[in-house]
Amino acid sequence: MGANAETPVLDKGFVRLVDAMGDDRRIVQAARVSYGEGTKTVREDAALIDYLMRHRHTSPFEMVEFTFHVKAPIFVVRQWFRHRTASVNEISARYSVLKDEFYEPAPEELRAQSEINKQAGEGRLPAAEAERAAELLTAAGRDVYARYRELLELGLAREQARSVLPVGIYTEFYWKQDLHNLLHFLKLRLDRHAQAEIRTYARAIAGFVQARVPLVWRSFEEHVLDARTLSASERAVLAELLDRRAYADALAQAGLSGSRVREALEKLFGEA
Ligand SMILES: Cc1cc2nc3c(=O)[nH]c(=O)nc-3n(C[C@H](O)[C@H](O)[C@H](O)COP(=O)(O)OP(=O)(O)OC[C@H]3O[C@@H](n4cnc5c(N)ncnc54)[C@H](O)[C@@H]3O)c2cc1C
Repeated sequence: MGANAETPVLDKGFVRLVDAMGDDRRIVQAARVSYGEGTKTVREDAALIDYLMRHRHTSPFEMVEFTFHVKAPIFVVRQWFRHRTASVNEISARYSVLKDEFYEPAPEELRAQSEINKQAGEGRLPAAEAERAAELLTAAGRDVYARYRELLELGLAREQARSVLPVGIYTEFYWKQDLHNLLHFLKLRLDRHAQAEIRTYARAIAGFVQARVPLVWRSFEEHVLDARTLSASERAVLAELLDRRAYADALAQAGLSGSRVREALEKLFGEA
């Protein structure tokens, strides 16, 4: 996927890759500066990237940058902008009149309030309630937008008239982020605890990242995205339960290299 490729997201949004600087090779080149020329022939690019990723040697990943153009509802963007390490430029509702574009999910996309997690939606709203909720969401958007237009026609400044607009209205922004911080964003926003809407955007971003830096993506999935951290207590219990030798054999059988088997043993049992 090259520059200007666009992925539609939600009912009216998108993620567009504006530009990207660097790729897997840039990370390898940057890392070799710190490890010296000698390592060049020893490690393959994929192995080096994997080593950097699993040892959290993060600065080479900062050498790659992505710029995206995103269109998303304001409630998604409020979550998005909590990630402080990006450079952002957003459309100004002081300067421009915002368009009549609201997030209007289809009835089958409406979730019921979770009973166990106050912060989450869960499962689908029953059909009749979902129909009515979808109608209300659309009607509220139309009603508010008519009042916004009326306020503007009265001559009220755009910067004040916008105060009636809801967080479901779409906005647009440019977002530039280096790969290290972008992966942190993706770890948090691809997670099943993140709200479904921002997860959809994170998946679109992930598609561009995977296409641009496939070796990084493989290591990111292995060591970060699909990895889990054990607490000290969990680790102690597992170390008691597991036989060191049997664990080492199973890891080798699963295809892990000798150094990764050693690292895995050290993680669980401490230094040999
Ligand atoms: C599922 C989920 C639920 C959430 N719920 C809430 C909520 O209910 N209320 C709420 O307010 N927020 C909530 N958040 C936002 C969350 O608390 C973080 O603000 C957000 O995820 C950004 O994470 P970050 O600070 O690691 O990322 P970034 O801002 O991108 O920062 C990346 C890293 O840089 C460092 N850093 C950046 N700025 C600073 C700084 N000023 N000081 C020290 N270190 C810094 C930190 O190491 C940080 O991890 C939620 C996030 C998620 C994913």
